[in-house]
Amino acid sequence: MRKIALVGIGKIAQDQHVPSISSSSEWRLSATVSRHGRVDGVENFVQIEDLLAARPDIGVVSLCLPPVPRFAAACAALRAGRHVMLEKPPGATIAEVHALHDLALAQGVTLFASWHSRAAQAVAAAKVWLSGREIRGGHIIWREDVRKWHPGQDWIFAAGGMGVFDPGINALSILTEILPQPARVLSAELDFPANRQAPIAARLSLSQGISADFDFRQEGPQTWDMEFETDSGTLALRMGGNVLEINGQPAGGQMSIMGEYPALYAHMAELVARSACDVDLSPLVLVADAFMLGRRNSVKEFEF
Ligand code: NAP
Repeated sequence: MRKIALVGIGKIAQDQHVPSISSSSEWRLSATVSRHGRVDGVENFVQIEDLLAARPDIGVVSLCLPPVPRFAAACAALRAGRHVMLEKPPGATIAEVHALHDLALAQGVTLFASWHSRAAQAVAAAKVWLSGREIRGGHIIWREDVRKWHPGQDWIFAAGGMGVFDPGINALSILTEILPQPARVLSAELDFPANRQAPIAARLSLSQGISADFDFRQEGPQTWDMEFETDSGTLALRMGGNVLEINGQPAGGQMSIMGEYPALYAHMAELVARSACDVDLSPLVLVADAFMLGRRNSVKEFEF
């Protein structure tokens, strides 16, 4: 078993990373770094530098911090010769992820910029079905309740927190994985709460007739769907890429997101064995372009 440290013991670390590592035969959770969070029975450090100095036996570090503070932690771990796994989005800017990738290559260690939604149950099958087909149009609806999924996370509405693009980038990570030809942003409209620095909703128009509707204000049923019309039939991915429909009929997948993080950690183990990198920035490029091109609306103030 390979020793791994988790950094940033917040919601996603507790919900997904700790259970996935604990149930894996490849990994042993050997330390954490968190100011407030703890995992029972696991040694904790408050600063990553203290972990790196005290535990040279731990060769792999998985960072579950928000994007803005993640860069400094990733640099410290890579400089200390550790393999690094990044939560999505891999950085607050494109340049910083390029810098991390260069550092990992120079150090000869793994950098894995993970995209958990790409590991959803039906994404690989959707990619196969779409390959060789012509996209005639598509629509993405990613609408969720920020109070339910990001309770009290003020960082998400701070500059660099990305607002509704924090979940929206999951849709874009699937899109960039399954499309036979890359799409680009043509225009965008972003709704910023008057008291916040990041959008609470966004509507994107992309090439190939694809549109996206991201909204953090959805109460009741939550929607993580995308549908495509092609030259020979329609494809829909529902439940965040976990359920597949072809021409309106069920065609595979499962109504569960619980396979995603175990798949990420299995991939990380395989990368570390080869000291290889897996860094694809294409979803982050679409988000950056939406911020660059987007028209901005000021909307009602938001409080958790
Ligand atoms: P979270 O609950 O706020 O946890 C993040 C942790 O990072 C905090 O508990 C905090 O732990 C630590 N941290 C260190 N510096 C921080 C800072 N300056 N501001 C805020 N926290 C800081 O966030 P999360 O939901 O786990 O999200 C973390 C990452 O996972 C994000 O990139 C997000 O996109 C991704 N993710 C989240 C979800 C989800 O459903 N929530 C799903 C998939 C992916 P200490 O205070 O103890 O140091």
